[in-house]
Amino acid sequence: MSHALTAPATRELRERAENLLRRLGVEPPAPGEISARTPITGSELISLPASDKAEVEAAIARADTAFRGWRTVPAPQRAAVVRRLAALLTEHQDELGELVTLEAGKIGPEARGEVQEMIDVCEFAIGLSRQLYGRTMPSERPGHRLMETWHPLGVVGVISAFNFPVAVWAWNTAVALVCGDTVVWKPSEATPLTALACHALLRRAAADVGADPEVHQLIQGPAAVGEQLVDDPRVALVSATGSVRMGQQVAPRVAARFGRCLLELGGNNAAIVTPTADLELATRGIVFAAAGTAGQRCTTLRRLIAHADVAGPLLDRISAAYRQLRVGNPLEDGVLVGPLINERAYDGMRAALERALADGGELVCGGERVEGPGDGFYVRPAIVRMPAQTAVVREETFAPILYVMTYQDLDAAIEMHNAVPQGLSSSIFTQNQREAERFLAADGSDCGIANVNIGTSGAEIGGAFGGEKQTGGGRESGSDSWKAYMRRATNTVNYSTELPLAQGIRFE
Ligand code: NAD
Repeated sequence: MSHALTAPATRELRERAENLLRRLGVEPPAPGEISARTPITGSELISLPASDKAEVEAAIARADTAFRGWRTVPAPQRAAVVRRLAALLTEHQDELGELVTLEAGKIGPEARGEVQEMIDVCEFAIGLSRQLYGRTMPSERPGHRLMETWHPLGVVGVISAFNFPVAVWAWNTAVALVCGDTVVWKPSEATPLTALACHALLRRAAADVGADPEVHQLIQGPAAVGEQLVDDPRVALVSATGSVRMGQQVAPRVAARFGRCLLELGGNNAAIVTPTADLELATRGIVFAAAGTAGQRCTTLRRLIAHADVAGPLLDRISAAYRQLRVGNPLEDGVLVGPLINERAYDGMRAALERALADGGELVCGGERVEGPGDGFYVRPAIVRMPAQTAVVREETFAPILYVMTYQDLDAAIEMHNAVPQGLSSSIFTQNQREAERFLAADGSDCGIANVNIGTSGAEIGGAFGGEKQTGGGRESGSDSWKAYMRRATNTVNYSTELPLAQGIRFE
């Protein structure tokens, strides 16, 4: 399906990307084997070289050397780099947002929102730099003090996914830097240009405040480049965001060398809608969570579990809203759903829909490919009513498909909700406090994120972000997630002239 006449010319998009890169402080790179494509038309923007083994080795070595100095800089001084980064991001929010649109296909407001999230997490990390608290505990021995101190961990390897090409990097990097770690980043091979821009902004921020720019290293390329990071014993923490399949490959390799892993993997998020729900509010929450970002968020709403009494009217509202969603070029105002990242994503969506229909699913609306500029893969978000939660529903298909099931009894709904391998985000829409509390209780939602009367996506940076089961168990961003980026030491100080042993042991 080619629409060459309506396509923004390939050259125009390429020039736009090159101009944005220049304005963000990056000279367009020499040609190479990584092809930076835009999902808007499917065409190549720029190509660039992948890092070879020697370059990855050198990047890790530089980060390791920089760590030795960086860990001794007081945390509030380390925050100066992050403060400057926040200022540069604020100055360049539109340019970086537009580059996210070009490279990941996000609509303008979501792309700028992603940059806003970077600024927010920088502010959080700046405050955190004065709050890396350790506890003191009462010692059982007279004249002794017992306390814990938190120290920088080392080199943090950040592996990130295409769908949040810049925010996930910022979550990790802003916190890791104030914690005293250095960072080696392996972005998705689908989004190398936004990575070049972030790297340049951070190096500039470091130089502007007189810090060592080597605290941040960028390596580019496919999974094999990430594997080298995963296997290197100098990388103290591997923070990896992506599919469950990737996590299954990464986690055992890091464990084999006793490294640390922070995993942020796939989700299969659900919302329960009870009979007392405010259907108008639920509809808005559901439509944004299920169709926003063309279904390409880890927190995208993929399963709707509606009480049988409200399923009909709720579905009428949602499908009416779906029919009004403008799908198309994300550079145009008013478009709410941009393209899928590539043909593989489109094939995955089609295959999942076929399986769902073979399982007795009924297509309520959407699912078809629609015209867009060039050879981009644009689809209408789909809603499928399912007779049961079959195997295809229990998988994460990274595309806008909302499966709808019904329930009679809340306990059964929660059981269905939890009967998937992933455990990232979840919601209940209800005006009944008992139902809400039941969902949030220990035997309620088993996810890392459980919401009441808002959708599953769009988390704030102040909370800890992550999920259970196959989502990997990691927590990033706010709350006390910083502890994953530091090591804890327990210190006992004897300020007496005696040497009493713990547990009252006498050794004389
Ligand atoms: P992906 O797993 O294909 O790739 C993610 C990253 O991992 C890429 O940089 C890739 O090169 C790298 N990688 C893959 N295999 C590797 C290996 N064996 N060793 C080292 N690195 C390896 O994921 P994607 O298609 O880019 O992103 C979509 C997926 O990411 C979805 O499953 C989505 O749910 C998930 N995701 C999760 C979160 C979260 O916070 N939980 C956030 C964003 C995306």
